[in-house]
Amino acid sequence: MTDGPNYGFDTLQVHAGARPDPATGARQTPIYQSTSYVFRDADHAAALFNLQEVGYIYSRLTNPTVAVLQERIATLEGGVGAVCCSSGHAAQIMSLFPLMGPGCNVVVSTRLYGGSITQFSQTIKRFGWSATFVDFDDTDAVAAAIDDDTRAVFCESVSNPGGYVTDIPAIAAIADKAGLPLIVDNTSATPYLCRPIEMGATLVVHSTTKYLTGSGTVTGGCVVDSGKFDWSQSDKFPSLSAPEPAYHGLKFHETFGELAFTFHGIAIGLRDLGMTMNPQGAHYTLLGIETLSLRMDRHVANAKKIAAWLEKDDRIEKVTYAGLESSPYAERAGKLYPKGAGALFTCAVKGGYDACIKLVDNLEIFSHVANLGDTRSLIIHPASTTHRQLTEEQQEAAGAAPDTVRLSIGIETVEDLLADLDQALNKATAA
Ligand SMILES: *Cc1c(COP(=O)(O)O)cnc(C)c1O
Repeated sequence: MTDGPNYGFDTLQVHAGARPDPATGARQTPIYQSTSYVFRDADHAAALFNLQEVGYIYSRLTNPTVAVLQERIATLEGGVGAVCCSSGHAAQIMSLFPLMGPGCNVVVSTRLYGGSITQFSQTIKRFGWSATFVDFDDTDAVAAAIDDDTRAVFCESVSNPGGYVTDIPAIAAIADKAGLPLIVDNTSATPYLCRPIEMGATLVVHSTTKYLTGSGTVTGGCVVDSGKFDWSQSDKFPSLSAPEPAYHGLKFHETFGELAFTFHGIAIGLRDLGMTMNPQGAHYTLLGIETLSLRMDRHVANAKKIAAWLEKDDRIEKVTYAGLESSPYAERAGKLYPKGAGALFTCAVKGGYDACIKLVDNLEIFSHVANLGDTRSLIIHPASTTHRQLTEEQQEAAGAAPDTVRLSIGIETVEDLLADLDQALNKATAA
């Protein structure tokens, strides 16, 4: 596709980054199942290794199928470049890696995917990094948590699983004032429902495992760069602003400008950490993205109907979905996420932990799995699974209390989903 002036989202989700294969004319993006690429000659090879010319060397770094996906996601998010990696968690490490060093910290929201809380509160300590957890509704507390060693601010747009939406413009203003990049995990909203870069985010991370791929086939992740952050404004980001010994003293920001973060992600991040996405995986995700907006509209429509139905049901204690008028986040969601607040929410079941276990065991269409963003409807009881490693206090803060189940509403016939919930709730709450 040529760079159209103002192509719409539905056009870009099908075409961005892709062009007919130059060798064969193949219309669908081929799966370039090749680890290496023949150099034209020794000079060409040297230029590639010196980053003087862009091209393919080895698939740990770049692969033509993965490159199409990178360009497509970057386009949909309104970024200048993207680096795909092996999972959403890999993307989170890849987003922090150029920014952090031993002794540095990241200020993060308490309302995050359970696995991210564990990654940030435990695992990153092994690198000498740390995370300071803050309630992102308390903007004064976010500003106060930033200190001289802070290198980034991190949150989710629509949070998994708490029915919470972040006021991204407010948080972006705080990060900006402190001279720090804001990283937004946009997995649950997708670029169709939310465009964090337009609201001031510097970087966007995704678990492409979820809605972008859409049918629960492959794990993957992506880091998108807005290209808008000035990495040389302070001495806080030497990986991007100072000479890089592994490339003869090249300075990424000076040399690559707005593409500095993306080039660093490939030339240092993927080269040395090796969290690479494979071309088969990229192919499934490219196919998924072609129908992203159609699926998201149906996901949201079904989620709204089901959340409203559950909210009125006697067997349910409470539903937390920012798409409900009763939600404390309804106004913010309407303003910042006008196409919908996603299709993921939690509900508290009367009868607590035991009723939740019976509910998940008795559903027939909903699958009990540790995934979300599938075309299929999914349910999980976070307290006994994904959020099991957390303290009860952390579970509550993350919207995953023991009496709470998380639903990821699929694109099936909504009446069938309602009937399934009805019969399973009867069994779960029977005396
Ligand atoms: C699933 C998920 C992740 C982690 O992604 P993986 O692909 O499973 O590594 C991170 N953030 C959010 C919001 C997620 O839903």
